[in-house]
Amino acid sequence: AFGAADPELAAWAAATYRPEDEVLRGIRERSIAAGLPAIQVGAMDGLHLEVLARACGWRSAVEIGTLGGYSGVCLLRGMGERGRLDTFELDPGRAALARRHFEEAGVADRVRVHVGPALERLAAVEAEGPFDVVFIDADKKGYPAYLDWAAEHLRVGGAVLADNTFGFGQVHRARPQGEDPEAMEALRTFSARLAQGGRFRATLLPTGEGLSLGVKVR
Ligand code: SAM
Repeated sequence: AFGAADPELAAWAAATYRPEDEVLRGIRERSIAAGLPAIQVGAMDGLHLEVLARACGWRSAVEIGTLGGYSGVCLLRGMGERGRLDTFELDPGRAALARRHFEEAGVADRVRVHVGPALERLAAVEAEGPFDVVFIDADKKGYPAYLDWAAEHLRVGGAVLADNTFGFGQVHRARPQGEDPEAMEALRTFSARLAQGGRFRATLLPTGEGLSLGVKVR
């Protein structure tokens, strides 16, 4: 948690705001039991997704990087009964597990899981745009291209969110320690383009892994 100044404060926040109920805890635990890496959004970041969706009244979301469906459930909960999610996952096994988790969470009728490389599969939903929100949480080298897709397929006033934009604490280093330099370069390109490219007004929420948030202005 690179943005948490003090682990005790983070524990207090989690105990007070209670970001994870039994459904989300079940998804997290069953994903790990099924052999998936524990790389879902942090519990507080999941809560950020839900609360942002509620506050902004989002109804249509695209997620790039499904894993076991944890963040997808957060977005769907925030969007409510009328919300729709298209989520994209490279790995068929992970996509199948996410479908099961969406069933168990009672949101399966509001979500489509697309399997394959997102950049190839996103075209399948373009005609249904423009969308209210695009959440990027997949391969870091793809972030600039995913941002370009979001810029084209969000409505003005819609939002792009991207997790891990602190690059596991290494995004700002010329010689990242333990992280792929090309991936860190892609994350820098992503943030520069989001913040300075003219299509979005953007900020970086310094919670957990670094959660970038931009609203499309043109
Ligand atoms: N958003 C999920 C959550 O919080 O529950 C976590 C997503 S995990 C960090 C990233 C996922 O992106 C992995 O499951 C991985 O298989 C998937 N992924 C990687 N490259 C991808 C690609 N090119 N297209 C679609 N999914 C990809």
